[in-house]
Amino acid sequence: MTSTPTAQSCELSSALFERARAVTPGGVNSPVRAFNAVGGTPRFIGSARGAWLTDVDGNEYVDLICSWGPMLLGHAHPEVVAALQAAAARGTSYGTPTEGEVALVEEIVRRTPVERLRLVSSGTEATMSAIRLARGFTGRDVVVKFAGCYHGHVDALLASAGSGLTTFSIPGTPGVPESSTALTLVLPYNDRDAVTAAFAEHGDRIACLITEAAPGNMGVVPPDPGFNKFLSETCREHGALFVSDEVMTGFRVSASGQWGTDGANEGWTPDLMTFGKVMGGGLPAAAFGGRADVMHHLAPEGPVYQAGTLSGNPLATAAGLATLRLADDGVYAHIASVADTLRTGIADAFGAAGVAHRIQSTGSMFSVFLTDRPVRDFADASTTDTVAYGAFFHAMLDRGVHLPPSAYESWFVSAAHDDRAVQAVLDALPDAARAAAA
Ligand code: PLP
Repeated sequence: MTSTPTAQSCELSSALFERARAVTPGGVNSPVRAFNAVGGTPRFIGSARGAWLTDVDGNEYVDLICSWGPMLLGHAHPEVVAALQAAAARGTSYGTPTEGEVALVEEIVRRTPVERLRLVSSGTEATMSAIRLARGFTGRDVVVKFAGCYHGHVDALLASAGSGLTTFSIPGTPGVPESSTALTLVLPYNDRDAVTAAFAEHGDRIACLITEAAPGNMGVVPPDPGFNKFLSETCREHGALFVSDEVMTGFRVSASGQWGTDGANEGWTPDLMTFGKVMGGGLPAAAFGGRADVMHHLAPEGPVYQAGTLSGNPLATAAGLATLRLADDGVYAHIASVADTLRTGIADAFGAAGVAHRIQSTGSMFSVFLTDRPVRDFADASTTDTVAYGAFFHAMLDRGVHLPPSAYESWFVSAAHDDRAVQAVLDALPDAARAAAA
């Protein structure tokens, strides 16, 4: 079937982009939103409901970004909106403890292996604080991470690999001093030998290894079977902490995140975990937590300092709690089935258009690499054809489907992606795949 794009006017988005660029670097408040990787004008969204975004010019799009993960239930879910309205009417922030914080933390403790949890406002804060705590707890300085894993814009983690496998890294962006990354080791993902070598050489200095529980920030690159277990065991052998970053996968891959699909079955638990996105229901909330004896080192119980004016904000906890309470087995079964249908449609469309592609997933999170090789690490991910992705992205956008505006991102679906939304994506795919082939 051929889908003809309806003529979209982007006049108001273009005008807003102009205005924004005059006062904000690149016109956006987070770089990927600027469309730099795909070109063109970012759509300024005026409203969203369920699976659909409506831009300021009145164009509608099936949303496959879902705010980069948080919108598990879809946009403006009536019960989440009601919880937010009720919370707002009681006041927006007090700077004192609230019952909502306790309830949200209890809900997360119930779903995951963490014993104690501290709320913060962003995933970046969560990973930054987890690393500080790991260093404070172990009395060691070195942090290990994987190339292609993103943990927010923490200086020590915006690092690029050094010249050798076990050499320390260099800043990944101007503005990060060499001293901030001089204690970070960056290794290739899914590479057990590299991990073993790094711990053999530096094991007694390593405070923690941090990894995305299943990377979604170089596109989706699932851990090889047993890889997370291996990481957890290697850390334990060397007295380092294993920090599993579930900011993206938490409460999305399953009710208990990626850990629910591997650690829960394999009998291991991370020492520390980080969460964000879904647990805030679209508002700024994130968290880090884990073993009680480690968390015990955090102020005010222990000496490791960490704080936040808006941590555990009443609106964020209300939205997060409403979202998690509604995220039952039916939600996870639905998003799994939507993702399945889309993956089949995508494979059919690229297959028919003769475009080399790999679709990789963990749970309902998936991404499409325009390459002919399996993607196990960042070097493999970098072989994706970004020019072809740009053509595909714009052909989908013209047909009313908003994909992530970068080839290196996960696609997200929600409980609100119904048959009409799924069909709209399936209808758009064949022409868009042909555009990628051109
Ligand atoms: N960790 C992971 C795995 C993420 O995907 C992200 C954001 O995409 C972060 C941390 C940082 O979260 P935030 O953008 O809320 O600071």
